[in-house]
Amino acid sequence: MIPFSDEQKTLRAKTRRFVYDELMPLEVQTELAEGKLDDATRKRLSARVLELELNAISLPRAFGGRGFSWVEQTIVNEEMGKATNALGWLMWDPAIVLKYATPDQIARYVRPSCEGTRGDCYAITEPAHGSDASVMDTTATRDGDDWILNGEKWHLTSGDVADYAVVQAATDANIGDGNTLFFMDLNSAGIEIIDMPKYMHNLIVEHPRVRLNNVRVPHANVLGAIGRGLELSKEWFRHERVMIAARCCGAAARLIDEATDFAKTRVQFGEPIANYQAIQFMLADSLTELYAARLLTYDIAHASDEAKTEEEIKRVHAKSSMVKLLASEMAGRVADRAVQIFGGRGYMREFAAERFFRELRVERIWEGTSEIQRIIIANSLYKRGVEAHVGDF
Ligand SMILES: Cc1cc2nc3c(=O)[nH]c(=O)nc-3n(C[C@H](O)[C@H](O)[C@H](O)COP(=O)(O)OP(=O)(O)OC[C@H]3O[C@@H](n4cnc5c(N)ncnc54)[C@H](O)[C@@H]3O)c2cc1C
Repeated sequence: MIPFSDEQKTLRAKTRRFVYDELMPLEVQTELAEGKLDDATRKRLSARVLELELNAISLPRAFGGRGFSWVEQTIVNEEMGKATNALGWLMWDPAIVLKYATPDQIARYVRPSCEGTRGDCYAITEPAHGSDASVMDTTATRDGDDWILNGEKWHLTSGDVADYAVVQAATDANIGDGNTLFFMDLNSAGIEIIDMPKYMHNLIVEHPRVRLNNVRVPHANVLGAIGRGLELSKEWFRHERVMIAARCCGAAARLIDEATDFAKTRVQFGEPIANYQAIQFMLADSLTELYAARLLTYDIAHASDEAKTEEEIKRVHAKSSMVKLLASEMAGRVADRAVQIFGGRGYMREFAAERFFRELRVERIWEGTSEIQRIIIANSLYKRGVEAHVGDF
């Protein structure tokens, strides 16, 4: 792994302090309140994030973001991933595709999102379209200077705290990939929140289901261009997959740390359980798997910083799937072993092992399931061969 520069080490130390000192102490109360965080705490922590300059890290400085490299973003996300209940998301980072915004959209949406006065969510998934995001039932039909959106979107992460969504809708199938992204204000006429379903985890945000009934959106709200919706969503997926891998590595590191400390102090049959091989093997496997996942995560982050040509970006796309697959599956196994090492305590909500056991499960589902990552990897292997994926560019 390429060694961190002094600046990167400082960034990691700063983020880590914030996570350990200011976010982790809120975990248990947030969990027991089913993810609810009071407004005063949210505001206080948002102010701290601005003070620490950890907001909008992936968007360009010219747009109001921090313009971090992929490696720097990975460093921050790795630390963020150590807090349960998605408390790390208090370091808000609007979707990377906002970099395609027009100057008018930057003023209305992107800059306020970077500053934290507006919030985004991303609406792709529908009742009939999940893994296959290439065809949408949600339609956008041109009407003079506006577009009329109709459809139903599921699992809108942060939809409860956002005030606009980036919506992927079907447009003319003959133009581009047949999909277009729109900025859609969530207070627009015709938007109905169907419900706020309960999920396995208790995160600080919800995932509402939303119906769009003749929602009018100005043409000025088209993000990118007509017919580039799927292409831009794929770019968002690629970015998210690397950051998911980073957060999974952070979570696994914390789990291994805590399980090791517990094993060294928990005495059964007259000895610390750390002395028993059954426990050692679980810790050793977890550490070894984390090492591999972390190396690949930083490797792909570095490759993403370097990728310039279309072919390099395609390779990075496939490798991001490899890293997301490896890291999310690794974190699931590590969490399972941590629960086992903590014994009965591992089944209690006040312990991070229990919370991560539930929370990490979705990492194998969202931004493409493990099966979908394997399909992407296999397709790229057939096209480009082994060397393109495991060798240098
Ligand atoms: C907590 C949570 C938050 C989410 N947040 C968002 C969000 O903010 N915005 C958004 O748009 N979406 C969001 N999603 C949706 C998420 O991205 C989808 O759930 C995911 O892509 C899978 O789609 P699906 O649920 O429709 O499952 P399906 O596509 O119906 O898949 C069901 C099963 O079939 C498998 N499968 C499907 N196709 C194949 C194939 N070709 N070969 C082999 N197996 C296959 C899948 O791997 C899976 O195991 C969220 C989901 C969850 C759970």
